[in-house]
Amino acid sequence: MKRMTTIKATCPDCGEVDLTADDILLRIGSMREKNTYGFSCPDCDRFVEKPADDRIVRLLLSGGVIPVVVQVPAEILEPRWGPPINHDDLLNFHEMLESDDWYENLTGGSRS
Ligand SMILES: [Zn+2]
Repeated sequence: MKRMTTIKATCPDCGEVDLTADDILLRIGSMREKNTYGFSCPDCDRFVEKPADDRIVRLLLSGGVIPVVVQVPAEILEPRWGPPINHDDLLNFHEMLESDDWYENLTGGSRS
């Protein structure tokens, strides 16, 4: 049995908790994505995710955490506007598609 290094992390609810390398998900972002680390709090089961700066990344790596390199789809990096789509938007869209003039509604104009 390999003895695991204890890594201390902070849960917003429970304060400092003891984790092992296996408990920590270290995500190394590609491109402009930020590095983050996350863990499920052993006390309250809440998943905590935080930004990981270079110092934290080195610390976690030296503690035996195996990093996950995140491959980001190009869409993620595209600029976006407006609020995220919610359930109501989907329902509205569905209702719109059932009408005969959905194309005009969607494009805001006539087909001519
Ligand atoms: Zn907690």
